[in-house]
Amino acid sequence: MIKAIVTGHSKGLGAALAADLLERGAQVLGIARASGQSAEGPSAGLTELSLDLADSAALAFWLAGDTLRDWLADAATVLLINNAGTVQPVGPLAVQDPAEVGRAVAVNVAAPLMLAAAVVQAMPAGAACRIVHVSSGAGRNAYPGWSVYCATKAALDLHASAAAQDDNANLRIVSLAPGVIDTDMQGQIRATPIAHFPLRQRFDALKQSGELAAPPRVARQLLDFMLSKDFGRDPVADLRQLKAVRK
Ligand code: NAP
Repeated sequence: MIKAIVTGHSKGLGAALAADLLERGAQVLGIARASGQSAEGPSAGLTELSLDLADSAALAFWLAGDTLRDWLADAATVLLINNAGTVQPVGPLAVQDPAEVGRAVAVNVAAPLMLAAAVVQAMPAGAACRIVHVSSGAGRNAYPGWSVYCATKAALDLHASAAAQDDNANLRIVSLAPGVIDTDMQGQIRATPIAHFPLRQRFDALKQSGELAAPPRVARQLLDFMLSKDFGRDPVADLRQLKAVRK
């Protein structure tokens, strides 16, 4: 039985990941503020936790209970996809709201790192654990106006690189850049004043030329990779640069 935890399953890439995992027969625990249930009614196999991942104390409180351990008890394979993320605050330091900086670091860094540790500790003995941090090219290149986003995604890359060196034969972990995807986050980027994000026109052009990938296609590629033999060989990867994956 595959049990998958997907953060930010309410929309965008996370919603596509949850839908694809359910189609593959996995049980999914989705964590976001909003629900990821479709208008047609509850999805069989989807359990939801409504939580603001910017609230690290609330996440720590939930992780200190037994719910996660109980939910994972019958899993042979545990997948954790740390997908929830925010690109805000965008702009130079002079306009960043310090409180918003703190919330972004909590969502983009604290929550993935807390969940990774908690899942490894809660999974049943002998189960295999595969973790993806959804990173970004912005964690590997500096962009003006994206200092918080770049820094938080770079943190995920180094976390995966270090955790991959743990003495744990049951763990594989990859920080994965997914490419540019047609989601609300891209809409937010296009709505940013150029004064705050000088590279915005590059993202306007990607939308206009149809170069943003559809979330279901990225989700399928990501999951094919995550379930493949090659997963975990390199702890930092880019979905656009992967060769065909070995099943
Ligand atoms: P999106 O459409 O904005 O969706 C973001 C998801 O994260 C939502 O489900 C949202 O759920 C959740 N989330 C955000 N803040 C949260 C909070 N405080 N607590 C709980 N959940 C929260 O973004 P996306 O484009 O699908 O992005 C998914 C991931 O891909 C992110 O990590 C992003 O950095 C990365 N990425 C995206 C692109 C791109 O081109 N779109 C490129 C590279 C990397 P709620 O609002 O319901 O809480």
